[in-house]
Amino acid sequence: MKDYARSFYKGKAWRNTQAAYMSSQHYICERCGDMAGVVHHREYITPENINDPNITLSWSNLEALCQDCHNKEHSSAEVCAEGLSFNSKGELVYTPGKRNDNNSPGTGGGTS
Ligand SMILES: [Zn+2]
Ligand SMILES: [Zn+2]
Repeated sequence: MKDYARSFYKGKAWRNTQAAYMSSQHYICERCGDMAGVVHHREYITPENINDPNITLSWSNLEALCQDCHNKEHSSAEVCAEGLSFNSKGELVYTPGKRNDNNSPGTGGGTS
């Protein structure tokens, strides 16, 4: 993960925001009602908007999701953060709305 994303996800602002948001949703997935484990950004975080609190920290841009629904949302095992994934060279790239054509199951290799 690139530094800009790492420092954001490790930052106090995000931690506080996601904790408050999670508790406001009672730790329940907004899509299936299962137990939520991830606060997802409806508008994915990019290098361009990572410093925009209206995107990164606004509750209207957040969604509490369980791991399953979050995996389905991103539809890629390679995604390590919001819209970010590694390419074959091991570089972090932004891949908005990227979909897998060959439906790979969302199980296995689950490092989050
Ligand atoms: Zn769910
Ligand atoms: Zn997400």
